[in-house]
Amino acid sequence: MKAASRFRKIMKSPRKPVRTRQSWSGHRAAERPVEPFSPHGSYTLALAYANSYHVGMSSLALQRVYALVHAEGGWSAERFFADGAGEPVSVELETPLSAFGAIAFSVSFEGDYVNLLEMLNRSGIPRRRRGRADGDPLVIMGGACAAINPLPMAEFIDVFTLGAAENVLPDLLSALSGESSRSAVLERLASRPGFFVPAHHHPESVRERGGFFKKLAKLELSEAQMREPGHLPTTAIVTPHTEFSDKFLLEMSRGCPEKCRYCWATFGMGRFRWHPTEFILGALDRARPVTDQLGFVATAVGDHPELETILESANQMGFRTSVSSVRIPAVTEGVLAALAASGDRSITLAPETGSDELRVKLNKPVPNSLLLEKVRLIFRARFTQLKLYFIVGLPGETDRDVEEILELARQCRAIMLEELAPTGVIGNIHLGVNILIPKPFTGYQRDSVEDPEILEARLRILRKGARRIPNVSISTMPVREAVWQAYITKAGTDAADVLELAAEGAGVARLLREFRERIEPEVFRRNPAGERLRWQFLRAG
Ligand code: SF4
Repeated sequence: MKAASRFRKIMKSPRKPVRTRQSWSGHRAAERPVEPFSPHGSYTLALAYANSYHVGMSSLALQRVYALVHAEGGWSAERFFADGAGEPVSVELETPLSAFGAIAFSVSFEGDYVNLLEMLNRSGIPRRRRGRADGDPLVIMGGACAAINPLPMAEFIDVFTLGAAENVLPDLLSALSGESSRSAVLERLASRPGFFVPAHHHPESVRERGGFFKKLAKLELSEAQMREPGHLPTTAIVTPHTEFSDKFLLEMSRGCPEKCRYCWATFGMGRFRWHPTEFILGALDRARPVTDQLGFVATAVGDHPELETILESANQMGFRTSVSSVRIPAVTEGVLAALAASGDRSITLAPETGSDELRVKLNKPVPNSLLLEKVRLIFRARFTQLKLYFIVGLPGETDRDVEEILELARQCRAIMLEELAPTGVIGNIHLGVNILIPKPFTGYQRDSVEDPEILEARLRILRKGARRIPNVSISTMPVREAVWQAYITKAGTDAADVLELAAEGAGVARLLREFRERIEPEVFRRNPAGERLRWQFLRAG
């Protein structure tokens, strides 16, 4: 007979006294769960987000996994965030992180890798997986970053989950509850699609072992899963202490029907599927007792074929609604009227560049003329805040293309003044400028980051130009940050010591200087066609 699972209960005392215990009592008191979630299951999982509570509780992915774990017989989860100093303790029971048998991190941004390592460090858990003994927690990482390129974190993580949470959690929880030792869990998961287990798959030799492929679990929900009652991802706990304060978030669709060359979502989230309208409207009954504010979330909100009906119905039911950014062609008078009726006055679009020609190269064939038509509709519907997202450093981009961003901003402003004149209100247009980070599994995965001097010059053109346009503000991504992000997105297992130094407090400038010879070839070298890319060992199932 098998020994009892070491994950059945919190298994041991914290590794060291918890010195600066964070109190979550204020946050707990403000939380409004949409259903009761007992923290007293037979099996407990530490569910960690390597950023603050404010950021983490805005993540529908984290909220979804929390609900899914509680829905699995006998299981409960306790949440951990990176706030505070000393050992992190759970929001639910203030249990120390090191007391758990398994810690699952949900990571959507590479920038959070350093926070993850700090959280392990603060808990006295050995950072490197090879330093962990049988009594140490099993450290698991899921989320978008795991399926993009897990190699930079492969020295620290015991198990990566690859695929939609709905498709990997049953296997993961069953291994944790069914096996009695760390090595048995690792062995079992290594043989399953959807789990990358560095101790078994030896990522350090992935390049040499050209034939090795790890199958992902399905990235999307199947048609059958989309029709299961209760399948719809929504907020589990509403709170005022988050980016989307007091909002009940609902997933409208998953994936995207477009194929913008720079975008990981379209390549990494599986086939585009939208949730049936009856399930979306049905979920509102769960929201009603806890809030009257809804946030519809999707990579492509506007592509739900019944978006207008959903927004109008939600308004009629007394909810105030908002949406994450809308694709430009999906902006219609009906959608704007429904959002405006909820009191929303801000909308975000992503033209990415000011040049029609360059936009076609991005595989986003939306002409400026269409964008300007939509901008007119937006201000005519009395929206006063327009956010426009752009990317610089695109392959083939020239200074002229960058100046066209400013020209586009001027045209948008002229429309804003014309349309808002009767109201006596002057709105604001904000330009959010990012730098292209050529991500694995996108159309630019072989490209390099643009030369930093060229990037600095282009950002200067934009900042200087935007300052001269009244009612237009701008924020730009620091070049240094883009180089760092590109490195930790594309690197292999040898990034481990760089990340460790970052977790010990070394700043990005120092790391880029000290590890220049390692970082620059990764970031500024274009991989020729046909050359094997290190992340290609991940193959969609
Ligand atoms: S429309 Fe948006 S989500 Fe879809 S591929 Fe393009 S950038 Fe990605």
